[in-house]
Amino acid sequence: MKISTEGLKSFIPTNTINELIESQAHAPESRVRDIIAKSLDKQRLEPDETASLLSVSDPELKQLILQGAHELKERIYGNRIVLFAPLYVGNECVNDCVYCGFRISNKECVRSTLSHEQLIEETKSLVETGHKRLIMVYGEHPIYSPEYIAETVQTVYDTKYSKGEIRRVNINAAPLDVEGFRTVKSVGIGTYQIFQETYHEETYARLHPRGPKSSFLWRLDGLDRAMKAGIDDLGIGALMGLYDWKFEVMGLLYHTIHLEQTFGVGPHTISFPRIEPANGTDFANHPPHRVSDEDFKHMVAVIRLSVPYTGMILTAREPIAIRDEVMRYGISQIDAGSSIGVGDYSSKDEESKKKSQFVLGDTRSLDDVIYELAKSGYIPSFCTSCYRAGRTGEHFMEFAVPGFVKRFCTPNALLTFAEYLYDFSSPRTLAVGMELIESETARIEDDNMRQSVRDKLASMKAGQRDLYY
Ligand code: SAM
Ligand code: SF4
Repeated sequence: MKISTEGLKSFIPTNTINELIESQAHAPESRVRDIIAKSLDKQRLEPDETASLLSVSDPELKQLILQGAHELKERIYGNRIVLFAPLYVGNECVNDCVYCGFRISNKECVRSTLSHEQLIEETKSLVETGHKRLIMVYGEHPIYSPEYIAETVQTVYDTKYSKGEIRRVNINAAPLDVEGFRTVKSVGIGTYQIFQETYHEETYARLHPRGPKSSFLWRLDGLDRAMKAGIDDLGIGALMGLYDWKFEVMGLLYHTIHLEQTFGVGPHTISFPRIEPANGTDFANHPPHRVSDEDFKHMVAVIRLSVPYTGMILTAREPIAIRDEVMRYGISQIDAGSSIGVGDYSSKDEESKKKSQFVLGDTRSLDDVIYELAKSGYIPSFCTSCYRAGRTGEHFMEFAVPGFVKRFCTPNALLTFAEYLYDFSSPRTLAVGMELIESETARIEDDNMRQSVRDKLASMKAGQRDLYY
């Protein structure tokens, strides 16, 4: 792959962002209310509006923003939470991202790439706990070519097992060229996720001193190339802690607007991971712009309101208490039962920490997470139906098509949750979960849909699987 940035221009207006953050400070309550109302009216916010929300410091106005985000989530998306797991395929890397345990200069990292057999074992271990959706993660190295990525994804899809199979694979890997993206698309991936890490070009250059990732523009253009290759299901993200978080949120918004304007489709998901400690990585223990819990909460709410149509991912990097709290403000997907060491699901050893990219904050099992979610009234969902039925852009449809959530998302969440409960859950999760399924099914307004869901649930109880709308 030849990296060329010829003809590329950044669409991140650094000076404008700085000016907006400054000029929009101290917005009066009436403006904050108007902006929230616009978002609740399902309109994406403009940069000056997002800057106003970001700059709010008055505790009461902050509370308004949190409430607005909560209302938007409840009104549009309801109480489902989609679950997935990361699968680390290999940690070889030619880049030197200063915050990452996999960087080339980290002598403490034990390098490892799954063999074909190990990949099958990892997949089986995940299927055995009940997972249906994965994100496969790769370092950046010539051995992880587009063909290799495609082959490993295919292996996961082909790993059928008595207790089920993985039904959707998303990817988090280096940006490819258009040809490379086409190769990866050909095996039927879900979302291709690339985090810009920081949208502040100068900071980016300093923190990515070596390897292909040192080119800010090549990375920034990555999702454009994916679109050109026909992948329209894309995830953007910024790694919080490298630079001012308000600037990063503005960067995410400008990236969103760029994709909308260029391709007519915004991002499928937005991620905003905070830096976690990483083995042999001093920088990660002391990130220069650490985001406090208070700011993180505010940030999640502002992102929710700014791009109301997008999915929002919160990973197990975050500790349990934060996850529980910010879920209210618009999160649609979380990972659970995650391991981030290469090969950890099937054979954890004492070197596993050294094969990991960073340290997780939430190490509960999938079943424990599901138990807690169900107890709090969230419907855990393993739904992959839109992707498999060819309804691409599903998150946008959930948002834009009236009745879509009621017709597809809630029933599919209930069916996939029931499937989990019958095949994988502990007795305590089964009890709480069945009660939730009962009460949520009773709440379905449409008589025909309610009956249809009850019929499908009965078929599941009798042994049928993989039923969906
Ligand atoms: N190597 C590919 C890349 O850099 O795009 C993809 C995989 S990389 C393993 C996935 C993401 O992990 C990176 O984009 C980065 O945002 C995140 N990451 C790296 N170091 C981290 C740390 N110490 N804490 C939290 N997230 C980290
Ligand atoms: Fe390599 Fe990605 Fe880690 Fe950078 S973030 S060192 S590219 S694995």
